[in-house]
Parts: sequence; C-alpha cells; structure tokens
Amino acid sequence: MRSSLIPQGAFKGLPTVVGGIEASLRRLAHYDYWDNKVRRSVLVDSKADLLLFGMAETALVALAKRMLAGEAFDNITGLRGTAYLAKTAPDNAVILPSFEAVSSSTDAYNKAFKIASDEKNPFSGKTLLQEHGKRQLVINPPAAPLDEEQLDRIYALPFTKLPHPSYKAAIPAYAQIKFSITSHRGCCGGCAFCAITHHQGKTIQSRSEQSVQEELERLSLHPDFRGTVTDVGGPTANMYGMRCSNPEAQASCRRESCLYPHICKHLDTRDDRAVDLLRRLRKNPAVKHLFVASGIRFDLLNRQPDYFADLVKHHVGGLLKVAPESTSPKVTNVMRKPGPKVFEQFLQKFREQSLNLGKKQAVVPYFISSHPGCTLKDMIEVALFLKEHNLRVEQVQEFTPTPGSLATCIYHTGRDPFSGELIHVPLNPNERRQQKALLLWHLPESRKDVLAALRQCDREDLITTLLGHQKQGIKQATSQARKQPKRPRKR
Ligand code: SF4
Repeated sequence: MRSSLIPQGAFKGLPTVVGGIEASLRRLAHYDYWDNKVRRSVLVDSKADLLLFGMAETALVALAKRMLAGEAFDNITGLRGTAYLAKTAPDNAVILPSFEAVSSSTDAYNKAFKIASDEKNPFSGKTLLQEHGKRQLVINPPAAPLDEEQLDRIYALPFTKLPHPSYKAAIPAYAQIKFSITSHRGCCGGCAFCAITHHQGKTIQSRSEQSVQEELERLSLHPDFRGTVTDVGGPTANMYGMRCSNPEAQASCRRESCLYPHICKHLDTRDDRAVDLLRRLRKNPAVKHLFVASGIRFDLLNRQPDYFADLVKHHVGGLLKVAPESTSPKVTNVMRKPGPKVFEQFLQKFREQSLNLGKKQAVVPYFISSHPGCTLKDMIEVALFLKEHNLRVEQVQEFTPTPGSLATCIYHTGRDPFSGELIHVPLNPNERRQQKALLLWHLPESRKDVLAALRQCDREDLITTLLGHQKQGIKQATSQARKQPKRPRKR
C-alpha cells in the first residue's frame, strides 16, 4: 500500500491501493477547507484502484492473501472497509446524492452526510454508492471491529516505533509518543469536530492487560528509557475496557455517540479494567512515572470513581489536559460535548482530590474558537466562565474543518444535517480573531479585540470584569475600540 501522495505513474502496471486516515476521511465527495470547495472522492483524484478505510489491517491482509492466491485484482471488490470505482452499480447499495449534486447544493451535501452516517455501523451498515460523473464510487461497509486476540496479535509485531527515515530533522511530537502505549482504539464520544470516529469507529477495541504489559517490558529495554511512560491511552484514555453491553442494540445502533445527548443505558462504563491495567503497569520496577496524557471524557468520571482517584493520585504530571472545548451550552450541543455543569463538577472534584493529596496540580483546559454554532456572545460567556473558575487557556485551537467530520459539514452548509437547524458559522476574520482573544482575555495583547467584542455585543459593562487586571492602557484601548465600526452580522 502506498500513500495517496505518490502519483500512480510511479508504479506503472501495478495496482494502486491508498489508505491511512486521510484516505478514510476523503473517501466520499467531501468539503475541502484548503480549496474551499467540495472535492471528489480521493479515490477518483488519486487515480488509485482501491481505497482502504479505517485501520484496515484485516482488509489489507485479505487483499494480500487473495492476490497471492492469483486472483485478478479487479475481481477483489467485496472486501469490507474498502472502496472502489465501478462502471455499474452493485445491487442493494444505498444511493447517496452524486458528487455533482453535493458540490452544487448544500442540501444535497447534508443529505449525503446523513445517509452515510446512518450506514456507518460495522454490524449492519450497507454498501454506499455515489456517482462521480459516469463512474460509480462504491463504499463497502466498514470492517468488523477487532477482538482482543486480533488486536494483541497486531501489537505484538516488531514495530520499530521510529519516525519514517525520510524525516531528517527532529520531530518535537515524537518525544511525546516515543515512550507512550496505545491501550485501545475507537471512541464512542462522537464529538462533532473529531475525525477519529470516522477512521477508527465508535466501537472501543481494547488490548489485553497482558499485551500492554508486554509492550511496557519491551519499552523498558530501550536504551533511552529513563522510567517515564508519557501516556497510556487511546483516542479517549478512560474508555479502556468499555463496551456496548447489548449486542442486539449495538448491531442496529445508528447513534453518532454513546454519550450524547445522554449516556446510553447499554454503555458499560465500568472502570475496573482500566484501573487494573494502570495498577499492573505501575508495579513494573522499571517505571518511575506513568502518565495519562490522552484526552479524558470527564462526563464519564462520575461513573468511574476509582479511575478518577488513581488518575489524580498517580498519573497527572502536574498539569492535566482536559478538553471541554466550550462552556456555552448552545455550542457544546453543536459539538456533542458535555456542558458547563459537568465540567464544573469535574473541576471541583479534581481540585478537592488534589488538595486532599497535598498535590499541586492544575487543569489545563483546551477550547476551540470559531466552532460552528459559536457566536461572540457565546465566547463572552466562555471568557466569564474561565475567569470565574480561575482558569487560564494557554493555547487556542481555532476551528479548521477536517474532511468528513460533522462540524465540517455544518461549516460548509450552515445547517445541522440531522436536525436541519440553521447554525451560525463564524467566517468573518474579525469575529474569528475576537473569539480567540476572548479565550485569551487575560493576555495584554488580547485587550483590543476583547474590547471590540464587548462593544459589538453591547456588553461594555463587562470591561472591568474581564480587563480590570490590565488597568494600564485600558482607556486608550477603549477609545480605539469605539472608533471601529460595528461589524455587520453574517448569516
Ligand atoms: S446501543 Fe448504546 S452503547 Fe450500544 S453502541 Fe449504541 S449508543 Fe453505544
């Protein structure tokens, strides 16, 4: 398999297979932020012969075995987790609006998004079909989730855990992952902006405790290992060992998220396996520190008291990164995230437990600015929440649409594809800058934009509340902000 970046002409006569997260997200016609237009499936644009989506180990092995057995490549069309181009449509496929339709109509785009979402279930999803001109893009149902044994077999392979040799300069992110361990795959959170569910799926697939322990043994033999495991987790750290407890309900489930709008009654949220895993790993004599740096879903922690206790006691390296992303209920609803009350409860508990343990540790919250659904008024609400709870945001993630996500669909169409509701999309550069400044209200360089935002929303009464700590120069910035014309509202 090779990357979609390699032109097909480089391997004349050989069948070309594309895969990886980029191919997964771009398997259907999709909105592309960089081109600011709807692009064709990457299978069409790359001129590849087959696309593998998802983690794809089973599809790749099945494909290789059939090719080794001498089967003609063009006949290998029915593998789960693959997409191909056909001249005629297969029977029983669910037909999506064509590329031509979704690129010219946002309603058609939303319709295609919803239909494709409804068929994502690996236990019951149907084959999808989307016309691209005269060709039919066929997307087979996703591959079945891997069981523990299959997963363990993969993670027992001799991965080098090294960056690709083509990278000559040091990669800062590599230091973060060099001594980290993936304990599971998949995320059932269904956050609107996240691409992981589209790639790894909603089903949590956990390795055995034994397999994770063996990986730690191997890591500890590395000459650079000094006793610190930088992370044990997955897309969401506290989902290790979780599962849907009702196979029948799971087989027909069309929910985007097992957690939103409420935690599903079938979701087994017990933390015993996650707690046991961390305890076993801590016992390894080579380990001095074992951190959990993957994101955690704090709305689950109420049901996971032992995991929460062990996390606070043993696995926070001074700062715990959490991602409420917003504290405006209107925005968290669009994001499919828990709202401010749940975050507040978590914060209080975390601080209490840290205090009881005599530990000086804090929460570093991650927020997204300019997410679809977020207005300046919402962001003022967030800034007030941050101030009230004595939180400082260090880095702001400005929303950038990734292909295939729900938030990207809303960004492009201005509507929620499920409810049809019109959603505000912050596109104006001034508004985007002001939203970011409101998250960083405590920094002197944000002052001018915070003032402009407060004035825009007729909330000059909050100037002292948000900027009172920056008395110097406030007068001058206020008069500058007053000189700026009010920005007309978009959408
Ligand atoms: S039935 Fe509930 S727990 Fe099971 S997959 Fe669906 S939403 Fe998740």
